[in-house]
Amino acid sequence: KEELNIIQGALELRTKTVEDVMTPLSDCYMLSSDAVLDFCTMSDVMQSGFTRIPVYENDRANIVDILFVKDLAFVDPDDCTPLKTITQFYRHPMHCVFSDTKLDVMLEEFKRAGKSHLAVVQRVNSEGEGDPFYEVMGIVTLEDVIEEIIKSEIVDE
Ligand code: ADP
Repeated sequence: KEELNIIQGALELRTKTVEDVMTPLSDCYMLSSDAVLDFCTMSDVMQSGFTRIPVYENDRANIVDILFVKDLAFVDPDDCTPLKTITQFYRHPMHCVFSDTKLDVMLEEFKRAGKSHLAVVQRVNSEGEGDPFYEVMGIVTLEDVIEEIIKSEIVDE
């Protein structure tokens, strides 16, 4: 029974898209690029429980960096280090995908070495008057794709 579910899930990777499984922007835990890594911010980050945190500038849809919680290992909250100092030091590459990317393609991208297992999901917005523009819709991680295969929630520790 469970095996059948997994086979079904694997087959659906070819038809489902990143948009079906992503975490929408409104649900993302993020930091503003002008944040200061004081005690308050750092404990908030720890309590969020996330490993990777998108960093935005001015507008939440404008993701400019990714902070890894492990980047904070040598940061002393008493120093009140600007977040920018840390993101500019590590400069983790930001990986973007289109919202209509199929999950099998996404899985291959995540498997490719050297890439983070988190991607920013965007689409081309051509509604309205002006020129079409890239619109950030959310984030997707390897876990979102795996969950689609095994068809059940992975409960984080
Ligand atoms: P983590 O290692 O941080 O727990 P996972 O890659 O295991 O992240 O993903 C677990 C779930 O949490 C996925 O649904 C993913 O989309 C979501 N997620 C990951 N990072 C964030 C974040 N910063 N804010 C909100 N949701 C996130």
